Amino acid sequence: MTSCQRCNKCCTNHLILVTPQDAARVEKETGISAVLFLDVIDDRKERERGEPAFILNGKEKLLVLQKQMNNSCILFNGKGCSVHAARPFLCRVYPFSANEKGELVSLPSRACKEKWFPEGEEAKQYLQDARAYQQQLEDYKKAIEKWNQITLKQKRSLADFIEFMKKEF
Ligand code: SF4
Ligand code: SF4
Repeated sequence: MTSCQRCNKCCTNHLILVTPQDAARVEKETGISAVLFLDVIDDRKERERGEPAFILNGKEKLLVLQKQMNNSCILFNGKGCSVHAARPFLCRVYPFSANEKGELVSLPSRACKEKWFPEGEEAKQYLQDARAYQQQLEDYKKAIEKWNQITLKQKRSLADFIEFMKKEF
């Protein structure tokens, strides 16, 4: 198989890591304030793409999309993604990433059980998105360094973090 089977398991089973740049795009697309769809979780050492953690009230946190009661992503509308054109980069490139040689590869921890890998123009698009995602993460890391220096030992909320990142991106 060469294409995603659109089984929606990505949207209904997994926690989705996001960047502030992703959140800004979704906010623009939906008009919904980012505080209403973002959340934080404790840092996970097993993450693969180098999604950066930031310090919030003395603890390392990761930015994620909120979930619905049934474990679906907050942006899943029952049939598909409600913000498809503006969806986070993790969703765009899953279950792949670009390796050190700049090639598109399956994630080692790939949870998608469907055996598919894109070809032709679709593969080019995945690779382009995977590289763009890497760059987005690099920019996010730099912004986090600033945030961590400013807020170390200070009490801050997720809303404060979102406001800070809005000024950065
Ligand atoms: S990537 Fe895999 S799990 Fe996700 S929607 Fe496509 S086929 Fe389903
Ligand atoms: S943002 Fe959209 S594509 Fe990504 S998990 Fe949520 S519903 Fe699925």
